[in-house]
Amino acid sequence: MMSWLEIGLLGMLAGVVGTGAGGLVSVFMGKPSSRFTGTILAFAAGVMLSIVFLELIEEAIDFSGYLAAIIGLSLGMGVFYLLDHYLPHHHPVTPEDIHLGGYLKKGTLLALGIGLHNFPEGLAIGSGFIGSTELGITLAVLIGLHNIPEGMAVAAPLRAGGYSYLKVVAITALAGAPMGVGAFIGAAISSISPLVLGLSLGFAAGAMLYIVCDELIPDAYKSAGAHLSILGIFCGTVLGILFTAWF
Ligand SMILES: [Zn+2]
Repeated sequence: MMSWLEIGLLGMLAGVVGTGAGGLVSVFMGKPSSRFTGTILAFAAGVMLSIVFLELIEEAIDFSGYLAAIIGLSLGMGVFYLLDHYLPHHHPVTPEDIHLGGYLKKGTLLALGIGLHNFPEGLAIGSGFIGSTELGITLAVLIGLHNIPEGMAVAAPLRAGGYSYLKVVAITALAGAPMGVGAFIGAAISSISPLVLGLSLGFAAGAMLYIVCDELIPDAYKSAGAHLSILGIFCGTVLGILFTAWF
């Protein structure tokens, strides 16, 4: 059994390597079109949807039953609704960011937005590891992969703002760090009892579902239109299914 700290570090690694790789790719690719950014965001959304339904909700039911899964899901969606409503933050990936000159002033709001996005993903990884090492690894790898297109999207406005390559990669990598905090807390909370583990997996599912519906899919539609977005969601979902079958 891994310690909470080890799980937290692994969660941070999945976050930082994922978004950092996205930042690195975007540095070498040049300036992406908003259609491209939207399509890969939709891909990230598809991966996230398959994680929510194939892994998190299913495992929550397995560990603690339907009621706990539904209560956890409701809490996750409810809390993220309240945070979204009452806590001023900025999506890391909205298309208007790409044109923002005064981007740095929004730094705090943006960091908060990225933190809000990555925290429940870390929570999912941390709770997953308490369920089983296999589940934790599957979630860490899938969420890490899903972070690559998100890192590319975060890097786009930084590149447009004229940041150096090194700074772009460093900032996008750092954006994945809140996942480590989420993973540590997820592991600590889920260790309390199997019931709490199921609630926590359900909570992560609800929070991630909220983020997909509130940020990723709407932002993808704004940038890439419906058809490319649906293609992206489709490809991401298929990758998620293949991954689940493979592990
Ligand atoms: Zn994400």
